[in-house]
Amino acid sequence: MISIVEFFRNLPRKKCHNCGKEILEKADCYGNLCDQCDHPAR
Ligand SMILES: [Zn+2]
Repeated sequence: MISIVEFFRNLPRKKCHNCGKEILEKADCYGNLCDQCDHPAR
């Protein structure tokens, strides 16, 4: 039996589709870009 904690720990980290960097936890409605690639100033 897997606890809910184990379940979330085993989830794959999201990675930026542009640079491949792991995306830190934040709102997950932005798509798949990290903060740098998703920066509005770019
Ligand atoms: Zn990126």
